[in-house]
Amino acid sequence: MSRADSPAGVHVVLLDIDDTLVDTRGAFRGALFVLLGTWLPHLDAEAREAALLRWAQDPGGHFRAYTRGEIDMESQRRARIVDLHAAFGGPELSRAELADWSARYEALIQELWRLTPDALDLLDALDAAGIRVGAVTNSHRDYQVAKLTRVGLATRLPVVSCLDDLGYGKPRAEIYHHACRLLGVTPERAAYVGDELDIDARGARDAGLLGIWLDRHGSGLEPGDVAVVRTLAEVPRLLGLSRNGATPAGTDLGENQAAR
Ligand SMILES: [Mg+2]
Repeated sequence: MSRADSPAGVHVVLLDIDDTLVDTRGAFRGALFVLLGTWLPHLDAEAREAALLRWAQDPGGHFRAYTRGEIDMESQRRARIVDLHAAFGGPELSRAELADWSARYEALIQELWRLTPDALDLLDALDAAGIRVGAVTNSHRDYQVAKLTRVGLATRLPVVSCLDDLGYGKPRAEIYHHACRLLGVTPERAAYVGDELDIDARGARDAGLLGIWLDRHGSGLEPGDVAVVRTLAEVPRLLGLSRNGATPAGTDLGENQAAR
């Protein structure tokens, strides 16, 4: 039996941070809602939703360029603001206005950072089972540590692998291998859970980990090549852990196996 058919052998669970442990999407929606009211007040409710979606989808690929180490955080954000104004009829922004827009956005999202509702229960279940945990994130350390501190997770994740560590991010295999090394396991003893199919689940799988896609919004996709959960509450069972954290030895994927 291949390792992928036997996730009971998982000793470490690595987690994505944004929209996996922290409700980043909720924070950016709240922040953008305020800023759209300031800068694009002509948008009706439907257009605001379209603007929120465009921000998240980032069709210009600016955030991805940031995660590849090509531009810094502020540059990617300003590029997305300019894109948003161009797409939805906002005014051309001066340099000072762009800086103000970005600073206000940042202040608002930091106020709005919250844990996802299923994060703590998962960490508790993994702790109870003796499964070590860590995070792998495509943002910089200072920023992500501030975020984890804000939501009360700073002491729950002994290893947090960030964009700074190697100078580039997921889905490069070296990132996952780096985090595994820090936790003292080989990739085949680790699972990785994240909300993005390509850079999280498939990236981890390609690096030799058990890739688990957190499809929070029920996309309806059935990728077939990675495990899929709708909430973090499904992860312990997928790993063969009982609710009270019993060890997973000898278990298999059960009905979830078909989803991989
Ligand atoms: Mg994420």
